[in-house]
Amino acid sequence: MRPTSVPEATLEEKQRLFAEVQGDIRFPEYLKGCYECGICVAACPSARFYNFSPRRITQAVARQDVELVWEQMNGEVWDCSQCFSCLRCPRGNNPGGVITILREVAVRNGLRSAKEALEGYGRIIYKIMGSGTQVSPDMIQPEAFPDWGPDTREVSANLELWRKALPPETLHTTSVSWDVAEKTLTELYLIWHMTGVLDMIKGIDVNLHTILGDVMEDLLEEQGYSV
Ligand code: SF4
Ligand code: SF4
Repeated sequence: MRPTSVPEATLEEKQRLFAEVQGDIRFPEYLKGCYECGICVAACPSARFYNFSPRRITQAVARQDVELVWEQMNGEVWDCSQCFSCLRCPRGNNPGGVITILREVAVRNGLRSAKEALEGYGRIIYKIMGSGTQVSPDMIQPEAFPDWGPDTREVSANLELWRKALPPETLHTTSVSWDVAEKTLTELYLIWHMTGVLDMIKGIDVNLHTILGDVMEDLLEEQGYSV
């Protein structure tokens, strides 16, 4: 969900974050220029439902408009569904990829927008790290997913009824999940450590980071790794 307001920041801070975006190893591959043709907007599902435009973001970044990019990092970028339909850009850009970099910089720097946008996902991250699996139906609660619309309220209120009508896989809950091999979990934990994902989480949610650290360290030590 898009955060509601843009916080104050100095020009130097905005320039520093923009330099971090430009310094990303993927940046030259993702942004080569912009014809302003709008094909990315026509292909974009989020543009259909929100006041959102991958063209606007791509142009702001290409023009090095640090003020506008700061605004977008604190709002628009969180409306992207990361579907990458915009890869059909005739200039060879990857607008969704540019947005990914903007989001990652926001997360790494602990921007309030990142904290607000990711607030509802703490339980999902914990679930993945704890069991190697993703969302189970009992996690779909309206307060955790306020932007998923009225269906969330309806599903959570009548979960038992829905389960009678839907396939057996939906019977998974947060306490009954798929059986994931320890080797798979170990690999997952090591990847999160080595790619810096855990450090990113620390900047966003310290409590979640502590819990994840405890869960992961035990297993990694059992497997002979020191983290
Ligand atoms: S499709 Fe590519 S060239 Fe056209 S507006 Fe979007 S980013 Fe620019
Ligand atoms: S990746 Fe984002 S910007 Fe690109 S088409 Fe999908 S929702 Fe739109």
